[in-house]
Amino acid sequence: MAARRCASLPWCCCLAWCSPPARRSSSPRPSCCSWANTGCAAGALVRTRTRAKERLGRLASPAFFFSSLMKHEQTMRSLDDLEQAGLIPPPSPEQRAAADAFGVLLPPALARLIDPSDPSDPIAAQVIPSAHERTVTPDEISDPIGDAAHSPLPGLVHRYPDRVLLKLTGLCAVNCRFCFRRDLLTQDVLRDADLEAALAYIGAHPEVWEVILSGGDPLILSDARLNRVVRRLEAIETVSVIRVHTRLPVANPERVTPALVGALKSPKAVYVMLHCNHPRELTPEARAACARLIDAGLPVLSQSVLLRGVNDRPEVLEALMRAFVATRITPHYLHHGDMARGTSHFRVPLETAQALLRGLRGRLSGLGQPTYILDLPEGHGKVPVGPVFATRDGAGWRVEDPQGEVHAYGNAGSRAIG
Ligand code: SF4
Repeated sequence: MAARRCASLPWCCCLAWCSPPARRSSSPRPSCCSWANTGCAAGALVRTRTRAKERLGRLASPAFFFSSLMKHEQTMRSLDDLEQAGLIPPPSPEQRAAADAFGVLLPPALARLIDPSDPSDPIAAQVIPSAHERTVTPDEISDPIGDAAHSPLPGLVHRYPDRVLLKLTGLCAVNCRFCFRRDLLTQDVLRDADLEAALAYIGAHPEVWEVILSGGDPLILSDARLNRVVRRLEAIETVSVIRVHTRLPVANPERVTPALVGALKSPKAVYVMLHCNHPRELTPEARAACARLIDAGLPVLSQSVLLRGVNDRPEVLEALMRAFVATRITPHYLHHGDMARGTSHFRVPLETAQALLRGLRGRLSGLGQPTYILDLPEGHGKVPVGPVFATRDGAGWRVEDPQGEVHAYGNAGSRAIG
């Protein structure tokens, strides 16, 4: 559905996105407003709230579902917004088609990082629709890692025996153009009945040791809702670990408030997995947001995607990992781009990725080494596919050192052979 602004945006804006109070209070919905039947992003949120309210009564006030982040009036939601802000020239029809297929969502914290004079800006490449998205290769699919095949209930993915993914909302703070779930994000919140069913499922499966809160971005939800989910999970005896996947600390660092940290804190282990792809995203504000989590006892680990034109140069990747380590964020996964539709221009060849990782090993200590991960299509799971440093050689091994020199290693000890 299109996320382009409709003609009646001021009305939508006053209701959903907190424009000036004068417009918010009593403006009647103009007859031209057709958000109920369009893909307008603001209308989608209004509809989500309205449906939720109808279903759940008083508990389902917007404040119960969404954090105040959703009131951020400066978030850009269309190509017209981007053009008016001077971030792009007049959009091409192909660019408009790309934005219609997957809407624009750009919060100010990331918009501020874009250099509009740089046609290769690495932040812009991640968030601004591109004509390249219209190219869909034969191996690209809507559900590239096979969520649907492993989903026993709405919002729940049970792919590995010991852990489940709990998708609390399909909404994000930013629409990343390379998103592996770009065709699956629903602009909706998991209904209470579905949440209860998912929690019952987790309780009935004692092999589930870890629950991963994902989406969308779960931190877009209100503190009250997150608090409720975390409390319910920590009450399930067989769940030992709660993991939160989020881009919010870089997309909107202000969201990481003491109240949010309090909602996430638990006697059980809670890990925060930060999605961040370029060192420029780790602004002082983003670093401070991560520090608030870490200081409260919530370890932060990184998840990045290797992206052509964003972080596929050795010096950029190294700077990203150094920034993580210096911020006390543990480098965890560097993902190979998934086969999501319209994302081939972002994918880096596997051998190029391995060479990058090999170089990183030579320049950076073990603290800064992420695992390079390929998530196999059709839900077969994650596999580390980084560089291989040791290969069999008869009864012994050929082992490459960090400088690229190869050594024989085996029964007779170690000697350089090339
Ligand atoms: S934050 Fe994650 S889920 Fe949301 S659009 Fe970006 S990659 Fe996709």
